[in-house]
Amino acid sequence: MRQKRGKKRPCNPDNWVMKKTKTLRNSGLGYVSYKSKRSVSARKIRPSCGSKCRLKCSEKIKEEVRQQLFSGFWSLGDVQRQREFIVSYSDEIKPKYRYSSTQNFRAMNRAFYFDVHNVRMRVCKQFFMATLDINARTIQTAFSKKSSTGFVAEDRRGKHNNHPTVDPEIKESVPQFINSIPRNEGDNVHSVIEKQISRHLRASPIYIPDQYVTLIQSAKKTGLPYKVHVLNHETFYDLKVFAESFGSNFNVNTERSTVTWHDIKIIRVEKQHANSFFYKTSYENEEFKEIDVRGNKRSRPRKSMPSQISSQLVLAYSKKIPLAENKKKDIKDLIQKRIIPQYY
Ligand SMILES: [Zn+2]
Repeated sequence: MRQKRGKKRPCNPDNWVMKKTKTLRNSGLGYVSYKSKRSVSARKIRPSCGSKCRLKCSEKIKEEVRQQLFSGFWSLGDVQRQREFIVSYSDEIKPKYRYSSTQNFRAMNRAFYFDVHNVRMRVCKQFFMATLDINARTIQTAFSKKSSTGFVAEDRRGKHNNHPTVDPEIKESVPQFINSIPRNEGDNVHSVIEKQISRHLRASPIYIPDQYVTLIQSAKKTGLPYKVHVLNHETFYDLKVFAESFGSNFNVNTERSTVTWHDIKIIRVEKQHANSFFYKTSYENEEFKEIDVRGNKRSRPRKSMPSQISSQLVLAYSKKIPLAENKKKDIKDLIQKRIIPQYY
């Protein structure tokens, strides 16, 4: 039997030119505009913000790294992914204080970042735009498309400043990291599940939480199904008890000065110093400071240290967490009134 062939489409040379132009444009290369026949020059990194910048961007990020960021961004070659990049590497900062008289003038500010060797560095807008050779309108457009690109809070990298440092071997190169940004809405776990649930709700209500497990497992229509790890009350440990069992001091360092956790940027732990952790409150600090969790040895007699910390883990709940009395009553009521089918 002969193989079926698809219907042959009429060829359209105009399309080829437009497609090629688009590829050139999205890769930051020079091209000749199809409509106006104007030639547009290739994207080129622009000079950085200079030494007067408050964020000292050019000290934090060297020229060769800027070049990598520039090429990484344009090698995405796709406007959608470039917008995702922009959105992932910026945050909205709400001004702390709003005075009524100036309210209208305090627009939402945005903070911009680049990841360099897995450390998120804040840069000024000018540096961000100059490094990628984009303008404010490109950023504006990226944000206005945000909802349509399917980004949700959980999926956005870089919503906060104190990222844990990751093993450099895992994510050394910038382009690799760029490639790990989800491609489009279709890859977005959250939205796939939401879709599945709303599809189900159109047909029938959800009566018991168990139904969600099945719905999530069957949410993906192609590829491997999602694996659902069902948790129960025994999954949770009481970390407060655990923390108290191995130390009581988390705020006073070995130089006897107090540190605010909010200011900590990097934390380091070492196997050979099990009772201490090390931290930096600024990327500019050369040395780590140390906090000994056992606290001040002179002032309090120490309990003997547990040899095996894991043995100290205590379950947070000793039994299943019961429904609140009122909720239980209401649910029974709904069953009695046959609003929830008696089957349940
Ligand atoms: Zn700057």
